[in-house]
Amino acid sequence: MSLLDALLRDGHTRLHIGGDWLAASDGAEIEVLDPSNGRVLAAVSSGSSEDALDAVTAAHEAGDAWAATPPRERGEILRRAFELMRARADELAELIVLEMGKALPEAKGEATYAAEFFRWYSEEAVRNEGTLATAPGGDKRIIAIHQPVGVSVLITPWNFPAAMATRKIGPALAAGCTMILKPASDTPLTALALAKLLQEAGVPPGVVNVLPSRRSGEVAAAMLADPRVRKVSFTGSTEVGARLLHTAADHIVNASMELGGNAPFLVFDDADVESAVDGAMIAKMRNGGQSCIAANRFFVHAAVADEFSRQFSAAMGAVKTGPGLEPGVELGPVINLAAQTELRELVGASAGAGSRIATGGNAPERPGFFFEPTVLTDVVKGDPILRHEIFGPVAPVVTFESEEEAIALANDTVHGLAAYVYTEDLARGLRVAEAIETGMVGINRGLISDPAAPFGGVKESGLGREGRREGMAAFLETKYIAAGW
Ligand code: NAD
Repeated sequence: MSLLDALLRDGHTRLHIGGDWLAASDGAEIEVLDPSNGRVLAAVSSGSSEDALDAVTAAHEAGDAWAATPPRERGEILRRAFELMRARADELAELIVLEMGKALPEAKGEATYAAEFFRWYSEEAVRNEGTLATAPGGDKRIIAIHQPVGVSVLITPWNFPAAMATRKIGPALAAGCTMILKPASDTPLTALALAKLLQEAGVPPGVVNVLPSRRSGEVAAAMLADPRVRKVSFTGSTEVGARLLHTAADHIVNASMELGGNAPFLVFDDADVESAVDGAMIAKMRNGGQSCIAANRFFVHAAVADEFSRQFSAAMGAVKTGPGLEPGVELGPVINLAAQTELRELVGASAGAGSRIATGGNAPERPGFFFEPTVLTDVVKGDPILRHEIFGPVAPVVTFESEEEAIALANDTVHGLAAYVYTEDLARGLRVAEAIETGMVGINRGLISDPAAPFGGVKESGLGREGRREGMAAFLETKYIAAGW
């Protein structure tokens, strides 16, 4: 049985609370659409505040036993979850395509990447190490231990419905926390499928609860106001992240924020242009441009700008667009009508301000929410498109003359998530990487994500890091014990 069929009963699926599958208390549902044709895929129960508090109760009741489960056992459950995800990666990928729209090869990449978080944290679960020191005055020992922070609320976006969930669930489980995952309303099916796989892997009832809800603000506020909730880990837009931080502040809830980006992609005159174009295609087009670390602004040295733009436009123009499950398709639709409309408006306004459309520029005449891969050249430095998280297959190219100017342009944004630098001079690459105000920099690489690396942003791109040991530390509290003997 496919993962989708296993979830659905007569086209409907339920909330996952305390190991059970329950309808929303008021019967509300979300219609999940296939963005390649706008058709309804499933009706998913949409949790109320009451359901959210039931999920908090389930997580709270499961908390002590899960925290006391030996780390090795928690790690082995995560390992089984990794193996189940890997065995069912093709099915999971199809489900991701159906509700999110990305092309199948991208979805397979996401399923594999998502599973890797379970493998990484299956190994980290046994590495929760404290410290022991003699106090400088010699009067006591300073013992520091790390304990699970407690019931955690995880809120994820639609763009990577599997990976953004496993990047939180993996470290939370490894740390010994129980949780309520609220997936994005556009893509709740993948999260519910993950809950089934985790159940099969041996995660006890109540440890991972999944609560899709159309009433995100209300449900999140109800959970954060509950004193049993000790952590919120959010991935999504800067705007919603800021609102959640306010709510978390009201109740002093520990908060991790992975927010929006506006990544600069710098190509210096000493770069290998062909390799920069390959990197640009990955950094821009991974996930159809709907990635927080997607290259959003291309700054290219005037000496190589024409050559770069020519090759980049040719590569973008050759991308095969269509429904994600169709063979050979590399670019699926964007997530919904609003996203498609926004792209049309952004490109239109930029062209109106003097940019040249080197390729693409339109939403093609076909059902679904498609947008052509687009390169804009001669973009002026004050163009509003450079301040906007584009979130689609549109690439504005701006020229620069000097390294100082390139750094200033790169830093001219409120965001600070990722940046990309292409140069054959490693000293320059490292110098520029240090000067750029972001949490992550790729030097001569368009793909940087890795569960073994610290992922996160500075400025308005967020607080905290996911992945590596920092990802688990986010779900641990440090306790200091002063001991005399
Ligand atoms: P979004 O902020 O609209 O939604 C994210 C999640 O928050 C969803 O589950 C949504 O239902 C929920 N939500 C919406 N309003 C809420 C509220 N008032 N209170 C609590 N929860 C609420 O973002 P999106 O459109 O789903 O995702 C795209 C955004 O996510 C982009 O800005 C992208 O850069 C960002 N993102 C960041 C990272 C990262 O690691 N930094 C990764 C992926 C996506």
